[in-house]
Amino acid sequence: MKKKLATVWLGGCSGCHMSLLDIDERILDVAALADIVKCPIVDGKEFPDVDIALIEGAIVNDEHISEAKHIREHSKIVVSFGDCAVTANIPSYRNLFTKEEALNRAYLEAESNDRGLIPDSPQLGKLIPRVSPLHEVIKVDYYIPGCPPSADLIFYVLAELLNGRTPVLDKERLKYG
Ligand code: SF4
Repeated sequence: MKKKLATVWLGGCSGCHMSLLDIDERILDVAALADIVKCPIVDGKEFPDVDIALIEGAIVNDEHISEAKHIREHSKIVVSFGDCAVTANIPSYRNLFTKEEALNRAYLEAESNDRGLIPDSPQLGKLIPRVSPLHEVIKVDYYIPGCPPSADLIFYVLAELLNGRTPVLDKERLKYG
């Protein structure tokens, strides 16, 4: 029986998802083993029960915390997908400042912003004081590092997991560049 696969985008730039698309025709191998039941372009409201969830991006706001916990409850395997999820990477630069300093700079002081308003809608997640990597909020089973991870590495990990094997990320596989 085919496995159920989900990919999710939290505090990231979507570059990791772009790299996933770079597996090109190997997507057919993935499709033979798994149904992609949720991803940024298959955007149902509910997160279904899945075998594998790939989560891109750091934990930046309170919505991300609840979403990550919900995904954990509904996923057999959670993969921290890309350096923003693995280490908090670029979004964590905000940790050099207070939340208020970051909001002021982005919305009140930035040269490109002429509205002079900090958005405050219940539909927008509230920034948490410190940006975190995914594993600080939920248990993570596997990691795919890289900014973005290479298509080869993504495909390797996915293929191993979909075939019920444990991916081995040795020095050769993690070579950057
Ligand atoms: S790891 Fe790099 S490519 Fe992936 S979301 Fe973060 S900044 Fe973008």
